[in-house]
Amino acid sequence: MEQVVIVGAGPCGLSAALELQKIGIDPLLIEKENITHSIYLYPTYMQFFSTPELLEIGGYPFSTPNEKPTRLEALHYYRNVAIRSKLRIRSYRTVTRIKRADDGTFLLQTTDRFSNSGQVAAGKVVLATGYFDHPNMLGIPGEELPHVTHYYREAHPYSGTKVAIIGGNNSAIDAAMDLLRVGAEVTVIYRGDQYSSNIKPWVRPIFESMVAKGRIAMRFRSRVVHIREGSITVLHEGAKETLQNDFVLALTGFRPDRSLLTQTGAALNSEGIPVYDPDTMETTVPGLYIAGVAASGADANEVFIETGRYHGVSIAKHIAGSA
Ligand SMILES: Cc1cc2nc3c(=O)[nH]c(=O)nc-3n(C[C@H](O)[C@H](O)[C@H](O)COP(=O)(O)OP(=O)(O)OC[C@H]3O[C@@H](n4cnc5c(N)ncnc54)[C@H](O)[C@@H]3O)c2cc1C
Repeated sequence: MEQVVIVGAGPCGLSAALELQKIGIDPLLIEKENITHSIYLYPTYMQFFSTPELLEIGGYPFSTPNEKPTRLEALHYYRNVAIRSKLRIRSYRTVTRIKRADDGTFLLQTTDRFSNSGQVAAGKVVLATGYFDHPNMLGIPGEELPHVTHYYREAHPYSGTKVAIIGGNNSAIDAAMDLLRVGAEVTVIYRGDQYSSNIKPWVRPIFESMVAKGRIAMRFRSRVVHIREGSITVLHEGAKETLQNDFVLALTGFRPDRSLLTQTGAALNSEGIPVYDPDTMETTVPGLYIAGVAASGADANEVFIETGRYHGVSIAKHIAGSA
């Protein structure tokens, strides 16, 4: 019987593990890929909008000469923190089901890459499963075609092609700037009627100037309603227009999957958002906690590393008090 199992070894799951170590608990982390898998999947040359100290966990300094760390530096930092602190991480195992026994303990069912199943019993469980596996789908015809993706990695494959980027937040703006540099013909299609206030302030003026010079086509109040081989249909103020197209990057964000939570009987509110005590991060099921972006509401961006890293502090405090 494990004292505490943490599902998900992203920055917030790792942070919770380090906080539990501080109160004398050696938790087991179960991770379906390897640590910080979401960051691994982020755009290859991404730069964080946060400064390094705001991404630190467990009090380990994040040292870099850059004002904002890169994806590579973050991978290096979190990996080294996990190794230095000797966290117990069972990688490449997916938690597929969590059952709560009558005595209040939990049984977690797992499967590995080779479809071998296993199970782990735990006194308490922290769900830190993030959101990156579940992109917000457009729900339009053609979304399943092979030239459409919700995950942008790097610009090279798009060189010399016509690319439609759907979305207007940092991911969309960063991708558009990258694509411009490799000679792609970029159209950004955004349903908002003005630039998002979330865009990194040091990127926005450059992006706006590219739009003003006609090097990036920016379409506000517009939605892609159909994707076909070779073209997309865009709806703008009631009028439909067909644009030639080679690739679609649907960078419309992500949302957490609540299924592990609901299996145990944990309550969601009328909007499908988990009910938990913000002081302890405990859900309505005693001993079941939620950490990181998995705890977010309708806007998944309301929790990020800067804020979600503190969830573990609340959880450890509550577990220490109830032990
Ligand atoms: C491009 C981009 C840039 C960003 N820049 C910043 C920034 O500058 N500053 C900032 O604070 N935030 C930033 N964010 C947001 C930040 O990355 C996320 O909020 C953060 O990753 C959330 O951490 P987490 O630990 O909650 O979830 P995740 O990092 O998503 O980790 C969840 C982990 O759980 C694992 N998992 C999922 N389901 C299971 C399962 N069933 N069994 C086992 N394991 C499972 C996943 O494989 C994953 O490793 C950025 C996000 C993006 C997309």
